[in-house]
Amino acid sequence: LLGADGAVRPTIFAEMSALAVRTGAINLGQGFPDEDGPAAVLDAAVDAIRAGVNQYPPGIGVPELRHAVADHQSRFYGLEVDPDREVLVTAGATEAIAAALLALLEPGDEVVTFEPFYDEYGAVIALAGGVHRTVPLEPPAFRPDLDRLRATVTDRTRVILVNTPHNPTGAVLDRPTLEAIVELAHRHDALIVTDEVYEHLTFGPQHIPIATLPGAWERTVTVSSGGKTFNTTGWKVGWLTAPAELVTAILAVKQFLTYVNGAPFQPAIAAGLALPTEFFTGIAAALAHKRDVLSAGLRAAGFDVHRSDGTYFVVADAAPLGHPDAVEFCRRLPELAGVVAVPLSAFCRGEYAERTASLVRFAFCKRVEVLEDAASRLATLG
Ligand code: PMP
Ligand code: GLN
Repeated sequence: LLGADGAVRPTIFAEMSALAVRTGAINLGQGFPDEDGPAAVLDAAVDAIRAGVNQYPPGIGVPELRHAVADHQSRFYGLEVDPDREVLVTAGATEAIAAALLALLEPGDEVVTFEPFYDEYGAVIALAGGVHRTVPLEPPAFRPDLDRLRATVTDRTRVILVNTPHNPTGAVLDRPTLEAIVELAHRHDALIVTDEVYEHLTFGPQHIPIATLPGAWERTVTVSSGGKTFNTTGWKVGWLTAPAELVTAILAVKQFLTYVNGAPFQPAIAAGLALPTEFFTGIAAALAHKRDVLSAGLRAAGFDVHRSDGTYFVVADAAPLGHPDAVEFCRRLPELAGVVAVPLSAFCRGEYAERTASLVRFAFCKRVEVLEDAASRLATLG
């Protein structure tokens, strides 16, 4: 596997989850919930299996799910998407991003992302022969310097790869930032690929899909997934929406990556996307409470806690506790406090990694009693 820096090793998430299993520590490393999602979604998958929905579905995705994705984009964002030509179902957002970059990049093309960045981006850009340029998100608020962004996007840029709400920082990109990205994409004739898997998990600031901005849709590939919204990270059902010619190009790659995806899970995620709007506001409210519980626990334990406005994650600084090196700290944390977390450096490289060396990402997508237990364990650190 190619790491964010191009090195060959297991991903940080696999390493840290294995460490949690080995030591019996509470796993606040890899972002996955410890509770099932809505019964309607689970039942729909069981029903589909029992009804014999067990053979290869269409490569582009089953019609029910493609229509559900189109209806979802219309209901939440006012985006009218053609379910037959502008939606592609994928093996999670992971495959959507990989297939999109492999389809859109020629060797030597540049891709601009913010830094820190979800580790897959660095690996897939490398696999596609692309060149990865980054623009730092500056702590504590993790906002980009827009002049820096303007200086980094050039005529060599083929793709601006956006992620909002942002893993690992919990930042939600604001409208001026998104407008600057669209304007730069126009000026340099670049495409936008946007990873919005945490679209329903924001705690204050509204999520703005970049495809809703004027002039954005025709050059944007929007990626999302059922994993985070319906607590089904293990099902690996994702999708992308884009203009038809981009979908056709990405499907051409996708068919040789996975060909098609889990047939019975697709109608089940379609059932989830059709749930009432209160379901979606409810999951965000529940997660905001979990964010508060863990952030308060970390603060009480002596960490400097950065505010998380979305996602499953909060970033905290271990330096005030006398731990300047988060990699070392995270390796020892199971033994020190019975908790697993991930160093921010797993999502960055070089100079930025050095500057943020004491930052740690904690996942709060766990039951409240688990977070309280983790908080009392962390309280012994000081
Ligand atoms: N993008 C981001 C920002 C993520 O945090 C994740 C994590 N799970 C993914 C993509 C992958 O999503 P999926 O599990 O649907 O492949
Ligand atoms: N996206 C999840 C995280 O950031 C995990 C995904 C993975 O294990 N690749 O923790």
